[in-house]
Amino acid sequence: MDNNCLFCRIVAGEIPATVVHETATTLAFRDIDPKAAVHVLVIPKDHHPDVVALAQNDPAGSADLLAAAAAVAEAEGLLTDGFRLMFNTGAYGGQEVFHVHAHVLGGEPLGPMLAIR
Ligand code: 5GP
Ligand code: ZN
Repeated sequence: MDNNCLFCRIVAGEIPATVVHETATTLAFRDIDPKAAVHVLVIPKDHHPDVVALAQNDPAGSADLLAAAAAVAEAEGLLTDGFRLMFNTGAYGGQEVFHVHAHVLGGEPLGPMLAIR
């Protein structure tokens, strides 16, 4: 655990979150500032700064995260109409919290993939 990391502190129970799904290795909770009708963040409990670090250092954890994101999408009723799964990464990606997290977004039409195009 990284004591300076917001999401590690959520995993540790030091900061409250609305948890919607949990496994031995992952946690999923509602985004505090939702950008869609459904906006859930899915994280590995272990600290990895971004999806590249996760993929390179923990292939099993990467698979767990993807499976958890799929389970969240199903539990949130997103499979019929579809949804978006997103990893913001680094400066150009607009990443703000440096503990890897998948955004599960849906529950309404999400519009174009990127606002700049
Ligand atoms: P990023 O830009 O790093 O991909 O996304 C970070 C996300 O974390 C944002 O959507 C933001 O609203 C969310 N967030 C930031 N602080 C908190 C918090 O304390 N609790 C929860 N549940 N979400 C947070
Ligand atoms: Zn962390």
